[in-house]
Amino acid sequence: MSISENVIAFKKQLPESVTLVAVSKTKPASDIQEAYDSGHRDFGENKVQEMESKWETLPKDIRWHMIGHVQRNKVKYMAPFVHLIHSIDSPRLLKEINKQGKKAERVIQGLLQLKIADEDSKFGLTVAEAETLLTSEAFQKYEHVKIVGLMGMATFTEDTEQISREFQQLKTAYDRWKDRYGFHTLSMGMSGDYTIALEKNTTMVRVGSAIFGERNYS
Ligand SMILES: *Cc1c(COP(=O)(O)O)cnc(C)c1O
Repeated sequence: MSISENVIAFKKQLPESVTLVAVSKTKPASDIQEAYDSGHRDFGENKVQEMESKWETLPKDIRWHMIGHVQRNKVKYMAPFVHLIHSIDSPRLLKEINKQGKKAERVIQGLLQLKIADEDSKFGLTVAEAETLLTSEAFQKYEHVKIVGLMGMATFTEDTEQISREFQQLKTAYDRWKDRYGFHTLSMGMSGDYTIALEKNTTMVRVGSAIFGERNYS
């Protein structure tokens, strides 16, 4: 199947309340254009500079999602256009996003990334750290960044029970904070585990290889 057929078929499986972020990292702009031409607008990238160069060449009504770990000195490059930063994993990054949002005269929307996986390599805050951040005085004062929900990545494993438990942890934190902080976005589920995320009532899935094919890292 072609990319546009994949996007259309994939969206058909999703409830209308779930947003598909098509993860286009490492893929050429022509692949994104093809998905765009089928009507899709939400794309995810994990490197700021790659996202910026794609933003420059592709249609301006694309909603760009930053899903990868962000270094603070890179925030300025995406502040003018990024739609949603999924991977806010420290108070210092949050502070920098507020600063660059101010310069760009925008309110940048973001998600706190929680560490739910049983792996050292995955970034994220613990539930306690996220709670501390959300209740901090500094956070209340930020006018150019708005936290609208949570993101997490489950362990890369065949053990579906474990994935389900990890997604449940994220969902529990989301439900606890949803009303208090006006959350509306729960970003969980990738090509290998989105069906489990759907069972847990995710609102946003980030799907790459199931749409664009396997990635070649070279
Ligand atoms: C690459 C990536 C995805 C998509 O992964 P697939 O397995 O290709 O669907 C989702 N989320 C994050 C954070 C990623 O880095």
